[in-house]
Amino acid sequence: MTDVTRTARRTAADTEPMVLAFDVVVTAVQHLTANFRRITFGGACLEAFGVAGDTLDLRIKIVIPSAGRPCPDIAGMMAGGAASSWYQRWLGLDAEDRGAMRTYTVRDSRCAGPRPEIDVDFVLHLDGEGRGGPASEWAAAARPGDRVCIIGPNSSAAQCTTAGAYGGIEWSPGLAQHVLLAGDETAVPAISAILEALPADIGGHAFLEVPDGQDIQHIGTRSSVGITWLARGQRPHGELLEAAVRDAVRVPGWVSLSGAGAASGGREPEDVDIDRTILWETPQLLEAAIVQSTVNPGRPSGTQPFYAWIAGEAAVVRGLRRYLVRDVGVDRKQVAFMGYWRKGRAELA
Ligand SMILES: Cc1cc2nc3c(=O)[nH]c(=O)nc-3n(C[C@H](O)[C@H](O)[C@H](O)COP(=O)(O)OP(=O)(O)OC[C@H]3O[C@@H](n4cnc5c(N)ncnc54)[C@H](O)[C@@H]3O)c2cc1C
Repeated sequence: MTDVTRTARRTAADTEPMVLAFDVVVTAVQHLTANFRRITFGGACLEAFGVAGDTLDLRIKIVIPSAGRPCPDIAGMMAGGAASSWYQRWLGLDAEDRGAMRTYTVRDSRCAGPRPEIDVDFVLHLDGEGRGGPASEWAAAARPGDRVCIIGPNSSAAQCTTAGAYGGIEWSPGLAQHVLLAGDETAVPAISAILEALPADIGGHAFLEVPDGQDIQHIGTRSSVGITWLARGQRPHGELLEAAVRDAVRVPGWVSLSGAGAASGGREPEDVDIDRTILWETPQLLEAAIVQSTVNPGRPSGTQPFYAWIAGEAAVVRGLRRYLVRDVGVDRKQVAFMGYWRKGRAELA
């Protein structure tokens, strides 16, 4: 994925790499719900893992070794090379030695203590014969002692005053006091961590679509964001999520949600061919594109009272993007739309 190279940049001072490779071991495995398994990773190296502040929707890469093979030596590939060349070297390995790289969210991290650990909640998307993608199959069988490599933020670079914001966190509501969070099961870890970090003066809605009623989990939050779980059952993926968002953010006039005045529709957003590219549109990326172009910037992102964060299966996210941007007229600079996975397609790399 391209964000591997994007986040592998160095700090302004060019002294500290923004990301490091962490060779970690599974220290605990917990069946959370019918379709979620929490895997705790530990290792002294995780002392160097972290961001300045809450992890929110912090994403990491997990390199899963092929069965019976050791983890590729990503730390060795990173040492001494240009900030992103390790990725090309990793891609150049034989498939068996390379393993599989997948993207996950840090559900919780305890890296400052004597036994540094992070938790990752894996969705087990397996068919009736227990077959899924490499990450899902690995998570279903994982046991304490198993090893993977995690690529994630270098805490000392994150604390450095010259460091730019780490590219692995997208949640960025700015001054918004009304928020909309919507996602499927792959976004549950991120939405949960965001809700746990929200201050008391934030309101809005969080919609979480999960495969089954038994996947509903407790999420603590000081905010007054209303949390709604949607159990999919046999319905098509995203149907309940889309209906819930349409109901919460109506056309015309999303005044009740945003407090920002009624909107009367917006422009059709450019189509994203989700078969060829990753659907990833965030205020930060739009802002950067506007700065580099001559397009009228309009109101800068982060200055409006409403902010939305949408993640999940790419076609569902694309449909929600069209609804919010074109039909409702929500400013694109106030919404992060992220395709976390694509139906029928393995993650690139
Ligand atoms: C920023 C980010 C954060 C993410 N955080 C998490 C997280 O915390 N927890 C989590 O479980 N996932 C998370 N995901 C999604 C995860 O990366 C994908 O589901 C990934 O494809 C799983 O890898 P795999 O090896 O199991 O399947 P792949 O080899 O990538 O895919 C194999 C097949 O399985 C299908 N598939 C993939 N994911 C699913 C799914 N969830 N349900 C049904 N079918 C699926 C694919 O369409 C494909 O046909 C995140 C993704 C991103 C981009």
